[in-house]
Amino acid sequence: MNHYDYLIVGAGLYGAVFAQEAKKAGKTCLVIDKRGHVAGNIYTEKVEGIQVHRYGAHIFHTSSKAVWQYVNRFAEFNRYTNSPVANYHGEIYNLPFNMNTFNKMWGVVTPAEAKAKIEEQKREAGITDPKNLEEQAISLVGTDIYEKLIKGYTGKQWGRPCTELPAFIIKRLPVRFTYDNNYFNALYQGIPDGGYTAMVEKMLEGIEVRLNVDYLADRENLNALADKVVYTGPVDAYFGYRLGALQYRSVRFETEVLDTDNYQGNAVVNYTDAETPYTRIIEHKHFAFGTQPKTVISREYSTEWHQGDEPYYPVNDEKNGALYAKYKALADAETKVIFGGRLGEYKYYDMDKVIEAALDAAARELG
Ligand code: FAD
Repeated sequence: MNHYDYLIVGAGLYGAVFAQEAKKAGKTCLVIDKRGHVAGNIYTEKVEGIQVHRYGAHIFHTSSKAVWQYVNRFAEFNRYTNSPVANYHGEIYNLPFNMNTFNKMWGVVTPAEAKAKIEEQKREAGITDPKNLEEQAISLVGTDIYEKLIKGYTGKQWGRPCTELPAFIIKRLPVRFTYDNNYFNALYQGIPDGGYTAMVEKMLEGIEVRLNVDYLADRENLNALADKVVYTGPVDAYFGYRLGALQYRSVRFETEVLDTDNYQGNAVVNYTDAETPYTRIIEHKHFAFGTQPKTVISREYSTEWHQGDEPYYPVNDEKNGALYAKYKALADAETKVIFGGRLGEYKYYDMDKVIEAALDAAARELG
């Protein structure tokens, strides 16, 4: 039986980057995943010739030159720039809020006119000490943008009306007084040609991977295979939920193949009214400028999370923060296990940040 320097639990981005670095340093690794595929939540699969993002749309963006150079070693990136649009009862607005949005909303043309309009609406609302998310949003961008572009969408995202959500959720709102529809401020962005799965497969080249293996179901035997473990599964599950379960917000995807070559003309369309039950529709082919005869769309429904559901977004409130701190103390005491990634650290990580975290952990570990 082979013995390895590292058993890596999870073939997602964190596990794949750590494995790649360990291999480079001359260490041996066994990577396992309980799913039947590598790449974790950034997994993409071909449907009708189109790369479909099974666990939600992923757009790579970073301002770190080092991370950009790192990922470009494993994939070529296309020139996709995220420019979502909002559909409010059939009215289309550009996002993030910018001069195109303000022109459509009010007919204003110059930044000075747009600023004056927002100021006028803030003044009219007369909110000095926002007590909930509705008051906070109006005090930041005025009534019209709140009513058409924030109220319904945010309510659906959180499963509660904005008047029942705390003000701190939106400390700032991205408002731009230029005609720039690029959603991200990052220096670099794009989608890997051939999809994210191929990129992760390249990272794992020459490394042994076993799929459909649940670490927690066979922990003792698997631990015996390696000197150390890198664990990227849920931290509370590792400890048998002994302090209670950490909570998440989940998303349900309804994916459909349509017999048309272009359904909505954009990769991402947010439905910002309260009546449409889904938050957005992703049309996958537009991430790669696809010209296939058919198209694949995914409607996204933001849902309450129940244990056993796919965990997506950690809930950043006091209760879950305090519970995670206790699990973190238990994790720190495990000298032969490195806990990492979005589930191992109970943290929302963009892809570039998870790569940085894995590279940092590998540098600390491997020297
Ligand atoms: P994961 O990808 O979750 O990998 C962990 C792996 O561990 C999984 O494959 C899992 O099956 C495995 N595992 C868990 N438990 C066990 C076990 N007991 N035994 C064996 N295997 C186990 N980031 C961006 O930069 N841009 C975006 O546009 C973007 N969009 C997103 C959209 C959504 C809906 C979500 C939720 C996240 C998005 N992200 C985005 C963040 C991105 O998904 C994460 O940065 C990335 O997936 C984190 O990788 P990871 O390796 O930490 O976790």
